[in-house]
Amino acid sequence: MIQKIHKFGGASVKDAGAVRNLAHIVGQHKDEDILLVVSAMGKTTNMLEKVLADFREHDGNLGMEALQDVIAYHDGIINDLFGEDANPAFGESIATLFIELWEKLQQTDAPYDYQYDQTVSYGELISTSIIHEYLNKCDIPTRWLDARKYVITDIEPTFRAANPDWDETRLRIGKLNDEHIRGLVCLTQGFIGGTPDGKHSVTLGREGSDFTAAIFANCLDAEEVTIWKDVDGLLNADPKRFANTVQLPHIPYSEAIELAFYGATIIHPKTIKPLQNKGITLKVQSFLHPDHEPTLIDGSHRKNDESIPSYIVKDNQTLVSISPRDYSFMDERNLKTIFAVCADLNVHANMIQTSALMLSFCFDSDKTKLKQLMTCLKESFSVKYNEGLQLFTIRHYQDGLEHDFIQGKKVLVKQGSRSTMQYVLS
Ligand code: ASP
Ligand code: MG
Repeated sequence: MIQKIHKFGGASVKDAGAVRNLAHIVGQHKDEDILLVVSAMGKTTNMLEKVLADFREHDGNLGMEALQDVIAYHDGIINDLFGEDANPAFGESIATLFIELWEKLQQTDAPYDYQYDQTVSYGELISTSIIHEYLNKCDIPTRWLDARKYVITDIEPTFRAANPDWDETRLRIGKLNDEHIRGLVCLTQGFIGGTPDGKHSVTLGREGSDFTAAIFANCLDAEEVTIWKDVDGLLNADPKRFANTVQLPHIPYSEAIELAFYGATIIHPKTIKPLQNKGITLKVQSFLHPDHEPTLIDGSHRKNDESIPSYIVKDNQTLVSISPRDYSFMDERNLKTIFAVCADLNVHANMIQTSALMLSFCFDSDKTKLKQLMTCLKESFSVKYNEGLQLFTIRHYQDGLEHDFIQGKKVLVKQGSRSTMQYVLS
């Protein structure tokens, strides 16, 4: 039975040194019946997005140049890891993946979201192929699994934001436990999945590898998932923005969902539910300091859970203020109309405030969606908006904690509950 899932993100495999470090960590856990979920190397997904854009928007030459950068980056890592004694069959398998990628890049008449998934998914396929070869070279017997045969979506999925068909996915992943050989490390890709007919690749949304780890853990009835990061566990704020951050030692699932909802980027928001549903512990641990205590996330609540305030900043917010043109109240009927439009357009409100005549909410800036929103509402409502704002959230708020951050900024909206304060700032 596979009991432990380890997820390694792009930063943890960004160069040959990082891959060696991964192998070292895996070596320490290899007898525990583990499954590894690994992302594309470093910023490969961003690079592939650019390759695709160049192929679609410019001529193939520019696209080819961008693709050469991706090939050179991976070649550099391969040469460093294997040098002269690279196995020729391995070299060929990597070359084949790049040829397949190139072929899929030619299909520029296909819808963007579809072609995105068929091409960008190669980042993970290539990265895990390299790691598979390297772990075996390090005498860590490893089995490579194609996530597109396990994480299964509907036959007509939402490309770039696919959701698993849980029944089919559970059926396929469940078989892994029956076939499992003790001492063999399983390795698969984060972020990607496939349609049931095996014909098309899908992706789960950017940073979706955490979600992949949770999907496998849920379907395997695993004990725990460890997400390896370049920070010492889950911190109460982004250390790039705030001084004196502290690690959250142990939080309940509900708190992790709240933090992800307000914009803490450390865990993909869809990750917690599949773990909570099966009572699977999540550990957030540093691959730079693997001996440092991880943050634990599970179902237990402790008395001092609320003693550490968390600070979350979401940039690039658009605040819209909507009022009925006929001066009617902002009542249930009007709210229903407005939120139906939001649901159709996939506009997700990060903060909502209402008054007698107005509904205000902010969402992640998106010019196309803003335009569509205004078009859909303009007949019955007046819509005003502000762009380029910040949403600042404090969990477990106490008086005065906002002071340093909001100093010198204009507060457009302030809203609070017993546990949470939010500010929309310009
Ligand atoms: N490689 C994908 C991304 O960069 C998925 C992930 O890293 O989680 O978004
Ligand atoms: Mg990542």
